[in-house]
Amino acid sequence: MAQEQWDVLSGVGITALMVAAARALESARADRLVDDPYAGALARCAGAPVPTAESDFSPRFRDAVGYIGLRSRVLDDFLTRAATDGIAQAVVLASGLDTRAYRLAWPPGFELFEIDQPRVLAYKDEVLAAEGAEPRCARRAAGVDLRDDWPAALREIGFDPARRTAWVAEGLLLYLDAATERSLVRRVTENSAPGSRIAVEDLVTKRSALLDDESVQASQHWGVNLDELVSQEDRPEPEVLLAEHGWTAEREEFSSAARRYGRELSGHARGMSEVSSVVTAEL
Ligand code: SAM
Repeated sequence: MAQEQWDVLSGVGITALMVAAARALESARADRLVDDPYAGALARCAGAPVPTAESDFSPRFRDAVGYIGLRSRVLDDFLTRAATDGIAQAVVLASGLDTRAYRLAWPPGFELFEIDQPRVLAYKDEVLAAEGAEPRCARRAAGVDLRDDWPAALREIGFDPARRTAWVAEGLLLYLDAATERSLVRRVTENSAPGSRIAVEDLVTKRSALLDDESVQASQHWGVNLDELVSQEDRPEPEVLLAEHGWTAEREEFSSAARRYGRELSGHARGMSEVSSVVTAEL
């Protein structure tokens, strides 16, 4: 069993609330790339220092919304394309307060598995039940730490490694130490039938872009110490690890994705999009 547990008011769990707050602001934009009707309710967690008016968010956070909205949309499209291409199951690694199972259209019979800490998932279930949200696919969630035996937990709730899978790791690698990232890629591969796909956000190999004083200070308002949460260990780029396990990977910088989606990024988010990428791969 893993050493620690957290909820959305502690440790790295708070970052799930931050992303939900960003998706709520994104959903209110006229040029939104993602429409998440549950993000606002999920972000308004009792006891969390979440502002209620957009103007109360720091300028740095408001810039980041453009980036997080784009990132969510790129990964939405990765998953829905996989479903259109006949992949019938997906695993969202560290799903946090992600509501893809509830807000995207899935083909009949599609199974979407989520993994995150038990208390993060319990909070999400509670809020979504109060909102009357219904999943639009077969959603199955495993409350397990990604440093524990998560493949066993997935199999227990019906995941079938013999079928092709689409995997997503969004806003995750930054928080994993290098050994856990390596084991994650190995275990994902061991549980991937040929033709499986994966998409990961890679900011960790360029993490200094995120860790400037203003971002660190902005996150401290939320009780998050980015400096401590973000792993400082060097590691190979994700496509190198994936290639070692037989995946064929490619990388697209978010600045290029921003052009494809017509997203104008401002301030710090524009700089981040030039160093952060989505790495996609097929086995
Ligand atoms: N992917 C979600 C999204 O984009 O909305 C959540 C991203 S949030 C920035 C990071 C998430 O990683 C949190 O929900 C946290 O609980 C989860 N996480 C980090 N380390 C983890 C671990 N070792 N095991 C399980 N979940 C983890």
